Amino acid sequence: MKALDELTFDNRFARLGDAFSTHVLPEPLDAPRLVVASDAAMALLDLDPAVAETPVFAELFGGHKLWAEAEPRAMVYSGHQFGGYTPQLGDGRGLLLGEVYNAAGEHWDLHLKGAGMTPYSRMGDGRAVLRSSIREFLASEALHALGIPSSRALCVIGSDTPVWREKQERGAMVLRMAPSHIRFGHFEYFYYTKKPEQQALLAEHVLNLHYPECREQPEPYLAMFREIVERNAELIAKWQAYGFCHGVMNTDNMSILGITFDFGPFAFLDDFDAHFICNHSDHEGRYSFSNQVPIGQWNLSALAQALTPFISVDALKETLGLYLPLYQANYLDLMRRRLGLTTAEDDDQKLVERLLKLMQNSGVDYTLFFRRLGDESTALAVAKLRDDFVDRAGFDAWAELYKARVERDGDYTQEQRRERMHGVNPLYILRNYLAQNAIAAAESGDYSEVRRLHEVLSKPFEEQAGMEQYAQRPPDWGKHLEISCSS
Ligand code: AMP
Ligand code: MG
Repeated sequence: MKALDELTFDNRFARLGDAFSTHVLPEPLDAPRLVVASDAAMALLDLDPAVAETPVFAELFGGHKLWAEAEPRAMVYSGHQFGGYTPQLGDGRGLLLGEVYNAAGEHWDLHLKGAGMTPYSRMGDGRAVLRSSIREFLASEALHALGIPSSRALCVIGSDTPVWREKQERGAMVLRMAPSHIRFGHFEYFYYTKKPEQQALLAEHVLNLHYPECREQPEPYLAMFREIVERNAELIAKWQAYGFCHGVMNTDNMSILGITFDFGPFAFLDDFDAHFICNHSDHEGRYSFSNQVPIGQWNLSALAQALTPFISVDALKETLGLYLPLYQANYLDLMRRRLGLTTAEDDDQKLVERLLKLMQNSGVDYTLFFRRLGDESTALAVAKLRDDFVDRAGFDAWAELYKARVERDGDYTQEQRRERMHGVNPLYILRNYLAQNAIAAAESGDYSEVRRLHEVLSKPFEEQAGMEQYAQRPPDWGKHLEISCSS
């Protein structure tokens, strides 16, 4: 275990130089205080969880203090936002404080979001509010606990600093961690500004640090792109299988590592709805739940365009062609597991589609359906679940197919089936209304609810005594909450 002043830094991105980022110091928050910290994320830095409660912790992550070895930098990037190219974006309110090595030899970027103005702030104030910082914190750690690759969150620091959004709110900072903060938009920036030297440096950096195994391949850059395509296909398959809607899949929000990145008006589905749009400024539904799949490919094509100086167009096209089949295979595999199936049959895709259609028409709770399906024997479970469906005959027909499919699947006890299914079907997910309750309490100075919710979501598959209220369908007020896009 390390003390806070014992972290080891090696700021490799900063060393790429001023063409890639600008030195900026964090702007401190007034009266910084700990809102919530993640023990699991602390462990990634070998930090004793107890240090989160010390005053120096809030000072460090509230922008008052800095390690001597930290080199805070605002990164420059660009990206396609809602399909249109924005020539320059960048860290407008976040700073890469530096890269930290842990005892296992992993390195983690420490990125402080809400740290004040930078040369890339454009019209913004460089700040983040408590509400959005809590949402990012909870989502990062909850996704990780579900087994969905994501940037991590160490802590949220609250403050008295006034920040104006639709109304006056208070500033906060969230300390985000990831092995890299490089986005598709980094490559696009150097490609469209026609800076081949820097672009080559960036590509070498990513290859050496994050895809070293691709060096062994005959065409290392192509191998790296292929890996990025594969990781994104797997990531988006997990989003779709677990009902996660990102909401702002602009290419500047897409990580080069294929992890969930940059949280805005995201949502987990309550009722299953393929057409769900969680972002209220997304009038055309470009980033609706089901569109995440083709948008994943669109974004990879945008990255491919930026990689044309290194890889032939034919090879890029061929590799892009892998995305959809890989996505489908991953998705079907996950859905089979959610249904408790251990083998593959040709008609499984149809079985899943038929179920989702029934759920869509009846507004069935997406998470609880799968959890309850494993609670009891197949026959008993479907008999109980049928009441949730408006089209009972339709559900009965599906249930007959499902029961027969389970029969053919294998010879296992209900005990084994339940254990297997509960291991992939969470009981607790970050429902918008739960986040909203925790935020309301935190805004009035009570952080206990955020902390409890974070705890519950850190073990989403385990039934936890006394936590029944976190496993309920949302109350009427909690469905379809309008989550402000301003953050
Ligand atoms: P986002 O929608 O959070 O992914 O941000 C898109 C771009 O706007 C990024 O370049 C951000 O750094 C920038 N940005 C968002 N909010 C602010 C803010 N309050 N102040 C400065 N820049 C911001
Ligand atoms: Mg962003």
